[in-house]
Order: sequence, then structure tokens, then C-alpha cells
Amino acid sequence: MTSMRVLKFGGTSVGSTDAFARVADIVRKAHEEDKVVVVTSAMSGVTDALIRAAKAAAAGDETPYRDTRNELLVKHQIVAGQLIEDGMERAAISRLLDDKLREFERLCQSIYVLGELTARGLDVVSGLGEQMAAPLLAAVLRSAGIRAEAVDAREIIVTDDTFGAANPILDLTCPRVQEKIRPLLEEGIVPVVTGFIAATREGITTTLGRGGSDYSASILAACLNADEVQIWTDVNGVLTADPRIVPDARTLPELSYVEAAELAYFGAKVLHPKTILPAVERDIPIRVLNTFDPEGPNTRIVRKPRPVGTPVKAIAVIRDLALVTVEGRGMMGVPGIAARTFGAVARTGVSVLMISQASSEQSICFVIPAVDVDKVIASLHEEMERELRRGYIDRIWSQDHIVIIAVVGAAMRGTPGISARVFGALGEAGINVIAIAQGSSEVNISLVVAADQADEAVRRIHNAFELHRVEALWNLPAETS
Ligand code: ADP
Ligand code: ASP
Ligand code: MG
Repeated sequence: MTSMRVLKFGGTSVGSTDAFARVADIVRKAHEEDKVVVVTSAMSGVTDALIRAAKAAAAGDETPYRDTRNELLVKHQIVAGQLIEDGMERAAISRLLDDKLREFERLCQSIYVLGELTARGLDVVSGLGEQMAAPLLAAVLRSAGIRAEAVDAREIIVTDDTFGAANPILDLTCPRVQEKIRPLLEEGIVPVVTGFIAATREGITTTLGRGGSDYSASILAACLNADEVQIWTDVNGVLTADPRIVPDARTLPELSYVEAAELAYFGAKVLHPKTILPAVERDIPIRVLNTFDPEGPNTRIVRKPRPVGTPVKAIAVIRDLALVTVEGRGMMGVPGIAARTFGAVARTGVSVLMISQASSEQSICFVIPAVDVDKVIASLHEEMERELRRGYIDRIWSQDHIVIIAVVGAAMRGTPGISARVFGALGEAGINVIAIAQGSSEVNISLVVAADQADEAVRRIHNAFELHRVEALWNLPAETS
């Protein structure tokens, strides 16, 4: 029986003519063995450019969107010109690019006139990149002799209306996915689906959040009960740390769903944090591979990976955060103070990344994105007005320029001395741990350190657990408590 795979290609994987050609090779090989569904991101840099131009239009500047329109036309046309042989196909793609970019210009004109960019409007604009990339990739695949057809995910993925981070409604999505995708697969056609975008029940365009094409792929895989999701990107799978920070980071052969989710949540950009959810429900393995080194090392994410000889598997960083502290000698006598603190934060719609344990009993500390500090502090002042006046609370303040470093590995739970090793490594380097925090699960230890020490801290911890020796560590018997 042939199996079914969903292959997702990220921005760099469709970032140039050369990359498109590699993708065509990968899809051809996969299609020789299995039924294949392709999900594509926008070409690299395109989503950023669309967003920048729309924001500039809202701020009263028309030049960026005019320039962007031309740049994006050229960027896509180059690929079409070099890889699509058939003249009719090329003409059709040109028309499509022209339509989409005209739409982009019209949207930006309205944004310019209104002087306002709503979250809803931003989703419409930022989703245009995928709407160009998917038909382009489908045409490139056809030119390479693979039967392929572009599919607009807005016809099949139904979400709520949380613009900018919409949540899929699987009960509505799956029947549509099956109805649209299955017949194509039965006919031997490779559907090439736009990542990132979806639509509400009413058909209004939404997006799944930046980097959301990974999530699109796992949603489709869950609906189709696929045998594997493949995330094709520009690195050899999930590494022990971001290779841009730690040059000797290594590929992790296997990770559990929980470990991968934790790493993604704590900033390992290689996977969108929500990608794991649909896969877990159906127990679908996720493989992360390198488009530019298809035969090279890659990572498999599964429910139960083989136990290995290292308690720590990887380290991730979330940046641009602030630590907010509510403190006062009298505050612990005030009933419900913690609940009210977090209630006041919740009313702002800001999510708390973690609650710190480093605090004394006379304070509550938590970490939020730095951009949200002002509104959170204002909300807290309002909530605690009386306590501040009476002196139960002395001050509500924030420490900016901090990061969270997450040290992740499921086997840490049963291994003594992990924290000591982490703190030892940081202490030797003179790196101050501002707070230790409770992660969202037991598979990580999270630390707050100053932003300018973040990279060094990651390298020190990486070194302390000898993560550059992954190949050797993988073959050792697991350390147990
Ligand atoms: P794509 O466009 O293919 O979705 P992304 O840029 O979203 O790719 O994600 C891949 C990038 O994630 C890598 O280039 C790498 O710099 C970064 N990254 C961060 N942490 C990790 C990690 N632990 N392992 C691998 N890559 C990581
Ligand atoms: N193109 C979108 C982004 O840049 C989605 C993705 O790349 O996954 O965020
Ligand atoms: Mg990505």
C-alpha cells in the first residue's frame, strides 16, 4: 500500500530558481513512491516585504508599496522565466502574478487613504505571497513533468476570526480537505497548497501567524490521516541549538512531540509552535529535513523516541522580553493578589510566557513580550490602585532587555544535577541568572538572563552538556535516576 506524505517547503526552499528546481526534484522522488501533498510558504522575504509596505501605507507613505509591487513581480517572474518551459503556462502565471500584485496595490491604496491598517486588513495583504508561490510552484512542477495543481487553502482550512493567529476549526476543515484533496490524490495529481492562509466560515481571509505554513501542513496531514509530515527547510532538521548562535550545533536524530513543542514554543524558529498539535492527535510523525541537503541528517519527531544518553537535548531562546515585578512587603496579606495580578494582565490580551520562581514571597514576577510592557503595567496600576495607595504594594516595574533560555530534554525529569550543571556553566562565564522560571511542562528548565548575554549563555550550556557530541551521546545508554 502506498502511503501519504505532506511535504512543506519554507521560504528559503522556494527562495530562488535553484531552490525551486531542488524542490521539484524532492517532490518527484517522493511522488514516485507515495501520494504527496505539497504545502508552500511565500518566497523568502516576500511576507516581510508585503507587511512592511502595508504598514508604510498606513503611515502615509506610498512609495514602498509601489516599489514592492515591482520587486515582487521581478522576483517571481525570474523563476517563471527560467523554469516554466511552456509559453501558455508562463503567460498564465504572468497574469496571475499581475492580478495578485494589482490586488496588493489596491489594498495598499485603501490602507493609505484610510491611514489605518487593521489586523484583518493585514492578513489579506500578508497572505498574498503564498497565493503567488503556490501557483508558481505548481507550474514549475508541471514543467518538470509532475502532475500538480495549486490549491488555495482558503477554500479548505476554516478558522475562527483571530486575525494574525487564527485557530483552525477541524470539524469544518477536515471534510473540505478530504473533498478537495482526495480526488486529486486518487488521480495521481500533487496538490500544491498555500501555507499560512485560511479563511473564516464567512470566507474572510485569515492567517495562522508568522511561520504558520508548518501548521498548515500538519492540519492537512491530520485531516488526511497522512503517514508523515515533512518540513523542508534550510537546516539539517532540528539542531541542538540555533546554528546561527552555536556553530557546532548538531542535528537531533529524534525528538518527542513534547520536546519539539517546547523548543518551538521557546523560540526554535525551525517549527511553528502549533505544528505539533494536530500531529499528536493522530500520532503522525513529523520529519524536519534540509532542501539543500536532502540526503543529509534530519530529525524525526515522534511520540516515543528511543531513550538516549543525554538528559538535555537542545537549547532555545526567546528574545525581546521583559520581566515585570509586582512587589511590596504588605502584598502577601492581600487576598487574591496573584489572581488579580494575572487577571489584570489577561484583560490586556497579553500572554504571560512564564511565571518566575526567583521571587521572594514579597513579589510576583512574570515574563511578557517587551512590546506589551506599557499596557500591562498600566493595567496593573489600575487594578492595584488601592494597594499602591495604602502601601501594600511598593512598586510595579519592569526589567527590559531580557531573554528566556529554555533547556529542553524529557530525560531531565529523572536525572539529578541538571540545574547544578546549568548554573555552574553560567557561573563560570560570569552570567547572572535573573530568574528561574517554571516552564509549561516538566521537560524544560527556563532561565531569564540579560539579552546581551543570551548567546554566550546558550553556547556555555551547549558546551556543558557536550551537545556537539550528539552522535556519541545518542548511542550511550540513557542516564537514569
Ligand atoms: P522556513 O522558511 O523553512 O520555514 P525558518 O526560517 O522558519 O525556515 O526556520 C529555519 C531556521 O530556524 C533555521 O535557519 C535556523 O536558523 C532557525 N533555528 C532556530 N533554532 C533552531 C534549531 N534548534 N534547529 C534548527 N534551526 C533552528
Ligand atoms: N510566509 C509566512 C511567513 O513568512 C508563513 C511561513 O513562512 O511559514 O511568516
Ligand atoms: Mg518557518
